[in-house]
Amino acid sequence: MPSTATPIDVLISEVGPRDGLQSVHAVMPTADKFTWIDALVAAGLREIEVASFVPAHLLPQMADATDVVRHALRHSGLTVMALVPNLRGAQAAIAAGVHKITIPVSASEAHSLANVRKTREDMVKEVRTIVQYRNEVAPQVLIEAGISTAFGCTLQGDVAEDDVVWLAAAVVAAGVDESGLSDTTGMANPAQVRRLFTRVRSEIGSRTGAAHMHNTRGLGLANCLAAYDVGVRTFDSSLAGLGGCPYAPGASGNVVTEDLVFMFEAMGISTGVDLTRLMAARSALQHGLPGEPLYGMTPEAGLPLNWPNPTAR
Ligand code: ZN
Repeated sequence: MPSTATPIDVLISEVGPRDGLQSVHAVMPTADKFTWIDALVAAGLREIEVASFVPAHLLPQMADATDVVRHALRHSGLTVMALVPNLRGAQAAIAAGVHKITIPVSASEAHSLANVRKTREDMVKEVRTIVQYRNEVAPQVLIEAGISTAFGCTLQGDVAEDDVVWLAAAVVAAGVDESGLSDTTGMANPAQVRRLFTRVRSEIGSRTGAAHMHNTRGLGLANCLAAYDVGVRTFDSSLAGLGGCPYAPGASGNVVTEDLVFMFEAMGISTGVDLTRLMAARSALQHGLPGEPLYGMTPEAGLPLNWPNPTAR
């Protein structure tokens, strides 16, 4: 495993075991999740969102969340993350021992009501309650709020940019350590990403968190690069783009980690991830989810002969 002391320019936060798995119908056996996470760590990933703490009847794919967190914690130097929608989830995640929790907060009122049956204002209150619980019980745990549907929503269409900026400021005021922006439904374009991240950064500064981009319309990498250009340095992505959108056949879900690492490394921007080992991790994923399509242009094409490209450094 590469030393975590090696400096990196961008942090790739792997979300396949959470975002990817919760978007597919098949349930990956727990033992296969372990091997997959081990392979991701061996490739040099330093942060992995390993599970979602939600009721098992809603997401049977996540019923083993506590076991998966405990397994991931064996890797020293790995930041173990989990998604929690509410205080109850946060309590379970903290009890399991996570280093960091991420709370989705919808910028779209329609999405918020449909997803968590809460208004945005009520969700900010929930965030504040989670922060207070964390402060009392586990002050070392980091909290991120991901502003979901920040770039558009399938239920209500446009999402006002003022609402996104307001919400990012509101969750920071509620005490989160960072707030990122999520293109939950894959509607963002690079000009919008540049504009919105710039506005959010001028509002919350260094508390600006990850760019969470989906590749639903093929703009995932372009959107990541746009975010990079305006100062974003943490990127969520998913191995093999797991979790293809059922409404867009052939489209991958999250930005493909392999392609994202290829783009940054080819530009001389260090990710700390070994692309050859990363591509090898696909077999662990496939073993646990036979029949599930794997995406990614870099794995299809293979690495260039001169990889890693010394002229880019
Ligand atoms: Zn997502």
